Amino acid sequence: MKTIIEPFKIKSVEPIKFTTEEERERILQEAGYNLFLVKAEDVLIDLLTDSGTSAMSAKQWAGIMEGDESYAGARSFFRFEKITKELTGFKYIIPTHQGRAAEKILFTIVGGAGKFIPNNTHFDTTRANIEYSGAEAHDLLVPIGKDPSARADFKGNMDVDALEKFINEKGKENIPLVMITVTNNAGGGQPVSMENIRATKEVASKYGIPLFIDACRFAENAYFIKKRERGYQNKTVKEIVQEMFSYADGCTMSAKKDAFVNMGGFLALNDDMIAQNARNILIVTEGFPTYGGLAGRDLEAMAQGLEEILDEHYLQYRLRSVEYLGEKLIEAGVPILEPPGGHAIYLDAKRFLPNIPPEQFPGQAIVAELFKVGGVRTVEIGSVMFGKNEKRTGKFIPSTMELVRLAIPRRVYTQSHIDYVVECVIEVFNNRSKLHGYKIVYEAPMLRHFTARFLPH
Ligand SMILES: *Cc1c(COP(=O)(O)O)cnc(C)c1O
Repeated sequence: MKTIIEPFKIKSVEPIKFTTEEERERILQEAGYNLFLVKAEDVLIDLLTDSGTSAMSAKQWAGIMEGDESYAGARSFFRFEKITKELTGFKYIIPTHQGRAAEKILFTIVGGAGKFIPNNTHFDTTRANIEYSGAEAHDLLVPIGKDPSARADFKGNMDVDALEKFINEKGKENIPLVMITVTNNAGGGQPVSMENIRATKEVASKYGIPLFIDACRFAENAYFIKKRERGYQNKTVKEIVQEMFSYADGCTMSAKKDAFVNMGGFLALNDDMIAQNARNILIVTEGFPTYGGLAGRDLEAMAQGLEEILDEHYLQYRLRSVEYLGEKLIEAGVPILEPPGGHAIYLDAKRFLPNIPPEQFPGQAIVAELFKVGGVRTVEIGSVMFGKNEKRTGKFIPSTMELVRLAIPRRVYTQSHIDYVVECVIEVFNNRSKLHGYKIVYEAPMLRHFTARFLPH
């Protein structure tokens, strides 16, 4: 088998800035050791997120010029609507400025006090929008999905038995919809099998509850199904995507992921009443139904991106390039969440730095050191993000996992960039006995990870 190569050539480039280790130490200090507070231009390789960071294709950029900026009934909307309908099969396609705007509209309509929304794992903005409406968000991931070292093909699956029990416990009348997130971003970018989507739909249908897909990485999920699930090897990704959506009654989408755009999203669904309500809210909060929160050119780029994402050479390269990074790290003995996900590699900071306790943020120690050693920006997904101090006693409650995410922007970095990242991670790993923990010296009352400041412990 030959090397799987980037299925594109480079037409336009953006220089990246090199800094010295001394400069990076100063930058870190000034930023309170929080990489969210570091200027992007001081970062050499930016693996903070895969959201909105994709490189657009020449055809997408051409679409930017082609975009129809008419207020109502723009051609770009109809192109976007047609492509999205063909992929999802849903009756109503409602553009929004990004994924969370679609979530906000959906849960404003179906959420509220006394309601419960189950999901394999809610992404943080989904959970926040559900809770903001007054409803409760519950994660019902299969148990193996919670074990970072267990290898399985579909660690993003819904625990279908737990779902049925949950529906019986809470009452079907209190569950406006069941959600399933493909791939499971908060759980390591792990895929969900077709069988599991089907089984989830069966349980939901049995109780008359609609199923919605959080579809941000629908194409990566479909390619995992093609590679790993029996009976799908000879189907096209497009057919697999269409089958995935055929079991659902609607979806929310952040086009900043699997539609290769820097901004965009949509809500799509079949229910007439919800759609009518959603469009009314859309007009108040986002814009007229044929543009949502977007410019005509954004709709054009999104439509083009939704066509390009189905390219199987791209998807093969995409999953392989993430797996390549994972394999190199595993070979060097670096503990990661296994198997590699679709859009990111997650270092397991608990096993990486067993001597640094969760209250001293081992993930943050790795994040800071990776930047110092190589100018690589990553993000802690552990006790900085999810840890809490109990209100009454001040007792520290850690996150269940201590992870560092290396998210790979789409079509942005080449294999040599990834080789460089591997070298940096291995260097940090080999020096792990010299690393120290951190303490928080400033934190905001909510979502503290974005603005917290740290000092070495
Ligand atoms: C990114 C993401 C969202 C939110 O989308 P935004 O465009 O960032 O608002 C929702 N769900 C999942 C799984 C995501 O990855």
